Amino acid sequence: PSITRGVTVEIPKVSWDDIGGLNDLKKKLKQAVEWPLKHSDAFTRLGVSPMRGILLHGPPGCSKTTLAKAAAHAAQASFFSLSGAELFSMYVGEGEALLRNTFRRARLVAPSIIFFDEADVIAAKRGTGSSGSTTVGERLLSTLLTEMDGLEEAKGILVLAATNRPHAIDAALMRPGRFDLVLYVPPPDVEARHEILRVHTRGMKIDPDVDLGQLAEETENFTGAELEGLCREAGIVALRENITATIIHNHHFQTVKISLKPALTKKEIDSYA
Ligand code: ATP
Repeated sequence: PSITRGVTVEIPKVSWDDIGGLNDLKKKLKQAVEWPLKHSDAFTRLGVSPMRGILLHGPPGCSKTTLAKAAAHAAQASFFSLSGAELFSMYVGEGEALLRNTFRRARLVAPSIIFFDEADVIAAKRGTGSSGSTTVGERLLSTLLTEMDGLEEAKGILVLAATNRPHAIDAALMRPGRFDLVLYVPPPDVEARHEILRVHTRGMKIDPDVDLGQLAEETENFTGAELEGLCREAGIVALRENITATIIHNHHFQTVKISLKPALTKKEIDSYA
C-alpha cells in the first residue's frame, strides 16, 4: 500500500472467508457496500440515493477494520484508511486539508471506500469543548460533513467508520445521507471462535490431535485478535520446544491458552454494545 501523510491506499487482499463468524453481518455489509459501488446506475435509474456511510461499532479486536477491508476487496475498491487520532494530532488546518484531499483522490479512482478508524475522535459530539472557539475536532467534523454531503454528486464512494464509542459520535453524522447504516460488530460466540481459530490455523501445520472446537469452548471472552495471537503463540511454543519441529500439537495450544487471559471481561465487552 502507498502511504501519503497519514493515509494508506490499497485494494485490500483480505476476503470475507478470512473472517470467522458474523455471517448475517457479512451479508448485510456485502449488500450495503457492493450495491452502491457496483450498481450505482441502478440507483440512479430508480431515483434512489445510494448509501453513503456505514458505521461499525463494537469492542476492540473484533474485526471492524478487517470487515471494512473485506468489503473493499469484494468490490475491488480502493481503500483509503485514515485514523481519527492521527488526523486530530495534526497541525491546524492540516487534518482538514488531508480529509478534503482524500475525498478528492477517492473520487478520481472510484470505486473507493474511505475508512475512518477511531472515528469518535474526529466525530465527537459538538459543543463539549470548554471555550467558545471552535476546536480541532469540530473543524474536522464539519469538514467531514461537508465532504459527505458532497458525495451526492459522486458515484462509487462509500465512507466506512469504526468506533468503540458509538455514543460519543455527533448526532449530525447519523442523519440519513450520512451514516445511513449502523452495524454492531459483536464479540465472537463459541461458533465464531471456532471459525476464527480455523481461519488462523489454515496455513499452519497442526496435528489432527488439535481440537479447535474444544479450544473455542475454553476461550470465552477472547476477541478475534486474541485468538489470532493464541494461534501464532502456539507455533512459537512448538518452535521454542524444538526448533526443528514440523508440526504443532494440542499441548502447545493448551500451554498458551493457560497462560493467556482475555483483556476484557464480559461486562466490559457488553458495555461496547
Ligand atoms: P480495533 O477496534 O482495535 O481497531 P477492530 O475491531 O478493527 O479493532 P481488527 O483490526 O479488524 O479489529 O482485527 C484485529 C485482528 O484480529 C486482525 O488481525 C484480524 O485478523 C483478527 N480478527 C478479529 N476478528 C476476527 C474474525 N472474526 N475472524 C478472523 N480474524 C479476526
